[in-house]
Amino acid sequence: MKRNILIALLTVFCSALLLLLSGCSLQGREGSSTSDAPKKTASVITPDVNVPTAVPKGIPVLMYHKIGPDKDNDAVISEELFKKQMKLLKEEGFHPISMQQLYDYVTKGTPVPVKPVVLTFDDGYADTYSIVFPVLKEYGFDATFFVNPGDVGQRMTWAQLKEMKEAGYTIANHGYQHIHMKELTNAQQVENIQKGQEALKDKLGISNVWFCYPYGSFNTYSEEACKANNIKAALSMNPGWVHVGDNPYTLHRIWIGNAVDLNHFRERITTEHYTDL
Ligand SMILES: [Zn+2]
Repeated sequence: MKRNILIALLTVFCSALLLLLSGCSLQGREGSSTSDAPKKTASVITPDVNVPTAVPKGIPVLMYHKIGPDKDNDAVISEELFKKQMKLLKEEGFHPISMQQLYDYVTKGTPVPVKPVVLTFDDGYADTYSIVFPVLKEYGFDATFFVNPGDVGQRMTWAQLKEMKEAGYTIANHGYQHIHMKELTNAQQVENIQKGQEALKDKLGISNVWFCYPYGSFNTYSEEACKANNIKAALSMNPGWVHVGDNPYTLHRIWIGNAVDLNHFRERITTEHYTDL
């Protein structure tokens, strides 16, 4: 009889202990969510979730800089042409994807929506906020913005970048300063990326993993400099599409400028053997 009472007591004790432990683990899971988690509810990016996915032979990554009236500048495209290009993407069923989707495709062959394209904007120009951001929002397109944290405040503000980040866009590192990586010592390369990472963390709370070489300039050490700063992939300015198995630290991009009219634009996003301009 005494033995039965002892077993009953033990059972009650163990059940109580289990309940306590499960409560602890639940609390632990809740407590583990970090401020870096994307705030999905506020995102203005509205990808078509019903679109079929596939593993394409390649993905075009488009490279934009400044949008404006400047003539004879290869890094500038008119507002009119830019808007026509975005309209073409929408009307012809292209699907802008994120850097993370591109990375998963390159490193793991993960399927992406059909007719994928990656939109990148370098240097953080004022028009990135005043022209590009509203157009992308209108179409619900995803895009990535590579900024030089050391220059923020001159053309764009941290408040504008914060607004874009909270709208769901990827803000990433283009070097703390816009300088040629291959002209720097190894230590200076690490430092230029590191200071950019720290500023993105400090000002926007971003644990950034994407880099874009200023002027497309890099050397044999640059990949190491990226890895030392938790960078998972880096974009160059070398022309061509991106493929499964490419080195993620030297990903190619397609130049877009005023010479890229709508026919050339369509060609650049439908064949990797596009006309050199
Ligand atoms: Zn740049």
